[in-house]
Amino acid sequence: MTSRIAQAQELMSIHGVDALIVSPSPDLRYLSGYAALPLERLTALIVRAEDDPVLMVPELEVAAARAAGVSFEITSWAETEDPFALIATLLSDADVIGVDDRMWASRLFAIQEALPETSLTVGGSIIAELRMTKEPEEVAALTDAGAAIDRVHDRMHEWLRAGRTEREVGADIARAILDEGHDQVDFVIVASGPNGASPHHEVSDRVIEVGDPVVVDIGGTNKAGYCSDSTRNYVAGPEVDPEYAALHAVLLDAQTAQRAAARPGISAEQLDAVGRDIIEAAGFGPNFMHRTGHGIGLETHEEPYIVSGSVRMLKPGMAFSIEPGIYLPGRFGARIEDIFVCTDDGAVSLNNTSRELRFL
Ligand code: ZN
Ligand code: ZN
Ligand code: ZN
Repeated sequence: MTSRIAQAQELMSIHGVDALIVSPSPDLRYLSGYAALPLERLTALIVRAEDDPVLMVPELEVAAARAAGVSFEITSWAETEDPFALIATLLSDADVIGVDDRMWASRLFAIQEALPETSLTVGGSIIAELRMTKEPEEVAALTDAGAAIDRVHDRMHEWLRAGRTEREVGADIARAILDEGHDQVDFVIVASGPNGASPHHEVSDRVIEVGDPVVVDIGGTNKAGYCSDSTRNYVAGPEVDPEYAALHAVLLDAQTAQRAAARPGISAEQLDAVGRDIIEAAGFGPNFMHRTGHGIGLETHEEPYIVSGSVRMLKPGMAFSIEPGIYLPGRFGARIEDIFVCTDDGAVSLNNTSRELRFL
């Protein structure tokens, strides 16, 4: 954590930010190791460009902060004290203060009131910059999460079949996400038949029919705080509409080409185009209406976004999804999604179950 703070301080100097105030959020966990709950009493990490960090916590949370292994100075505020007055004392000489992206508006206004001469700015991009490149232990944690979600996909035959509702199948999947090594279920999408055409459909009471294609997109968070996210396409029964099989084949071609293309030196928008061009050439351009992917780490969606318009270059250590999809409203849809870590030699997939259409 000390080196992360040092890196943050370096970026703060570059961006002309004198201090960062980070309230409970993945950013706080990243910088301090403390996964503080977002409670009404203010907890905030204060990072000054030229001084040691201070973690400000309500008195009754001091023990919890220490138990989380916080190695910085901890300053506590008593129940009847004003924490914003304390912030004003600590940061009286700061001209520009960056706050984390998730800070409650009520707190932001209270800080502004306590420090009327100071200009407040969004500081999240500084921390996002650091979080985007994973350290080896973060890659290990993401690898562990990826293997855990793969084990759930490998067990899909236990639950997914015609005659059951999406909700029933989803409940079984959610239990397995925990059983296979996550601390938390983040989302379970079981999108059968026409529901597959909605990328963020979750589950419904629709009964899965024989021959239905089913998009299953699932993810959780492991003990270390890192997320998994993988999508596969199943068929309930031995046969599927040949048009669906053809659509899935196009998608697999696109995702395969993107996997091969992902490496340092390609930009996010170039990587997006590699898949989009193949899907467009097959006549499905308008049916791939979302970006190719998103970064992943302490959050399921974070930088870098693999999207048209982003000239960000991929670099070793970046972790992100490649998840092209094709959606035909009223009929069906498909998406193939894996998480990759960029290395010097290309992208390593953290998800390794078969990407073929699977008949259950
Ligand atoms: Zn999504
Ligand atoms: Zn995703
Ligand atoms: Zn997903």
